This record gives sequence, C-alpha cells and structure tokens, in this order.
Amino acid sequence: MDFKSFIRDVPNFPKDGIIFKDITPLLQSPEMLNKTTEALAQLVNGHKIDKVVGMESRGFIFGPLLASKLNAGFVPIRKPGKLPSTTLSETYDLEYGKDTLEIHTDSIQKGDMVLIHDDVLATGGTASAACKLVEKLGGNIVQCNFLIELTFLEGISKIEEYQAKSLLKY
Ligand code: 5GP
Repeated sequence: MDFKSFIRDVPNFPKDGIIFKDITPLLQSPEMLNKTTEALAQLVNGHKIDKVVGMESRGFIFGPLLASKLNAGFVPIRKPGKLPSTTLSETYDLEYGKDTLEIHTDSIQKGDMVLIHDDVLATGGTASAACKLVEKLGGNIVQCNFLIELTFLEGISKIEEYQAKSLLKY
C-alpha cells in the first residue's frame, strides 16, 4: 500500500495558511507501522549506528522503533526544561523568534555513530540544531533520516554538510 495515502493534509494547523502533514493515520495501521519502520531502516543502508537521536515530539515515535531495528540506543532531544539531568542547549532562529533544544550531556560518547531522525524536515532549523548538539558531544552524524521532506521549504540547505534521506517527498 502507498505510504502517502496514510498521510493526511490538515489545512490551517497549527496556524492559518499552513497545511500540516498528519502522520497519525499511518500510525494507526499495524501493517504500515511495521512497513514504515522497515523502510526508514533501509535508508540507513547497512551503516553501523550506535545511537538514534530523535527530536521532541514526533521524532519519539519512529526513533525508538528504528533504534530497536538497528540495534542502537535511543537519545531524546527535548524542548528546554524537560530533560532532568545535565544538558547542553542549542538556540536557533525561527521565522519569527527563536527556539531552543536540549540533550543530556552523557547521552553521546565521543566517536558514537549517530542517526538523526524526525518525522518531518520542514525549514531545517530543528535538524540543524540537533546535528550541532550531537557534534558538540563528539558524535559522528551518519545520516539525517526523515519520514517526510517538505522540499518547497528547502530545509535540506541547512543540513547540506550531512547525508540526508527521506522516505516521502512533497
Ligand atoms: P523545521 O525545524 O524543519 O522547520 O520543522 C521540523 C519540525 O516541525 C519537526 O520536528 C516536525 O515534527 C515539525 N513539523 C513541521 N511541519 C510539520 C508538518 O507538516 N507535519 C508534522 N507532522 N510535523 C511538522
């Protein structure tokens, strides 16, 4: 079955003028949940991965499933004040304003081979900040891996120094 038929467009969410790609229909199907995890893992092309790093909050859905499939650990990147132990922060620009992401400083060991995963690559700010956090802790980024890339937003340009792969492009 076609992956795209399980992705729903929701107009004017979270703001007027935005057409949100809703992945929840895909998550409801046991068959598609398996197929998607398998297909995301295949994008990694057999590379050794020590840690899958997923971004809050939808990177926490396929991130751990992928980690389990790849025999890797899972590391969450979260919004400020959510992680309980010592963190490293990265602030990045949004269209209007700024945002910050945090990672536990002990979550990546120097030389770890890291897969960055999120559901959607939009403007690329989130993925770029995640890559910076991982590199500051000494991790090597093997690939940035997404379920969906919104190509018209050109987020790929913010992570052009990394290998990036997505299952679906719009
Ligand atoms: P960026 O930083 O690339 O602009 O935005 C990416 C982040 O926003 C991701 O964490 C993703 O979950 C969320 N995001 C942006 N647009 C969409 C969308 O249309 N659908 C979903 N599911 N998430 C989105």
